[in-house]
Amino acid sequence: MKRLYDIAVIGAGIGGLTAGALLAKKGYSVAVFEAGHVPGGYCTSFKRQGFMFDSCLDAISGWGEYGWLRKVFKKLDIEEKIKMVRLEPLRVDNFAGDKINVPGTIPELINLLYGISPGEKDGILNLLDTMEEIYRIAMSTPPEVVYAYPGIKGVIGKYRDKTYKELLDEFITSPRARAVMCDRCAFLGLPPSKVSALVMTIMFMTYSSGGGYRIKGGACNLTDALVDALLGSGGELHLNAPVSDIIIEDGKACGIIVAGGKIRAKAVIAAAGAAAMCRVAGINADANKTSVSFYMVYLGLKDAPEIPDSMGYYPGYDIESTFADVARDVASPNASLEIINYSGLSPAMAPGGHTSVMLMSKAGYSYARPWNECRNYEADRVLSLAEKAIPGIKESVVFRETATPLTLEKYTGNLHGAAFGWEQSVSNTRISSHQRLRGLFFAGHWTYPGGGIESVAASGAAAAESAAALVNKEAYN
Ligand SMILES: Cc1cc2nc3c(=O)[nH]c(=O)nc-3n(C[C@H](O)[C@H](O)[C@H](O)COP(=O)(O)OP(=O)(O)OC[C@H]3O[C@@H](n4cnc5c(N)ncnc54)[C@H](O)[C@@H]3O)c2cc1C
Repeated sequence: MKRLYDIAVIGAGIGGLTAGALLAKKGYSVAVFEAGHVPGGYCTSFKRQGFMFDSCLDAISGWGEYGWLRKVFKKLDIEEKIKMVRLEPLRVDNFAGDKINVPGTIPELINLLYGISPGEKDGILNLLDTMEEIYRIAMSTPPEVVYAYPGIKGVIGKYRDKTYKELLDEFITSPRARAVMCDRCAFLGLPPSKVSALVMTIMFMTYSSGGGYRIKGGACNLTDALVDALLGSGGELHLNAPVSDIIIEDGKACGIIVAGGKIRAKAVIAAAGAAAMCRVAGINADANKTSVSFYMVYLGLKDAPEIPDSMGYYPGYDIESTFADVARDVASPNASLEIINYSGLSPAMAPGGHTSVMLMSKAGYSYARPWNECRNYEADRVLSLAEKAIPGIKESVVFRETATPLTLEKYTGNLHGAAFGWEQSVSNTRISSHQRLRGLFFAGHWTYPGGGIESVAASGAAAAESAAALVNKEAYN
């Protein structure tokens, strides 16, 4: 390990690795410091008794023609290093037995909604036109402008302070059509009445236009491709290297403290939980709320019934009510559930005749009882919920493991096991990456544009550009 770099990156999640790999490719001396013993943060995979699982992910966006993730991989010249498999359909929405195959293209989505609510064709078309316009502008405008520029006009200005429910209310009324349009609220962990119209639209549209993808062989392959790109261009990755502080001199970040030692750098990219990083850098990080966390049940199945690659189970069409008990009760009668079949698209992720599945349930960090006392009890309840969605699944279980919000926090340092950084509500949307200290840049899901692999790749690329500009400017001066 050297003692001086152009840029030091804190955290080897997808945000930090993206920044590090792009900077290394441009020839900067860069090192990524990771607290854990493996890189990837939430984007990792693990194997138990022959079954392989991604620790967290369901569907990855951003691999369509204009997707941010694809852009990063193109820039790094590593597009061919991973095999992305498109989910067809994008997902199956299961509303208490009413199963709807939701497509990953806009024309097919429009047709689906026309079929569901033939009397609302104008409303459906106008809604999707509006959402497409928001998405198009958001994808071609710097995120900080989209989310925070005070005078922004047009469709972004109109919907920035609205909730997703308010947006839908303007255009459609059919409960079944609205349920489909809200099926991915769990991806942001907020009900339609709270989630920002802007954030939800961008997330919904990126999946609905560019598609959702799985990484063949597991999410770890995405992480490995970025690590190889970083190392292949002369960058460094230091594992088991928790950063305990950021060195600030004359009002500028100029290094980090790792294992008690000083590493100096011309710029620092914090990609490891803005909340903690703001604290060590002495920045007031607002009183923002964190996003939802999850309770996961990883299952190895033998002779399982047919399980779609990605299914959302809901007790009815009222998506709002699936959030009612999140904080206290993961498997309440109101709860929704994500059912993810990993070995469907990657058969090597399970032994022959077997299936690797993850059940993912929204969960609060402070739970009714200590998590470790109730994780098995909750796993039984979550499995009973899954049985409603996929009859016969319970009988086929031969392996089971669980992870709670505490597990997520322990392995990634994400405050409260937050799945997507800050809560993406209207009041929380304007997060505080503008409260930067000179020389300190943020990447990852705590900064713009927010949670999800595609978004953190975008923030990593933006942070890399800003850090490189600062290093160049200082060299010139
Ligand atoms: C259950 C779940 C399901 C999800 N499903 C999806 C999905 O289907 N699709 C999708 O796109 N997104 C999904 N997400 C969200 C997505 O995984 C995250 O938004 C994204 O991976 C965050 O990347 P990151 O780089 O910001 O941070 P992280 O992945 O959190 O990585 C941060 C890294 O920093 C390290 N670190 C922390 N503190 C320090 C320190 N002091 N010093 C050094 N290193 C440190 C951590 O160990 C970690 O490796 C899901 C998340 C969860 C939890």
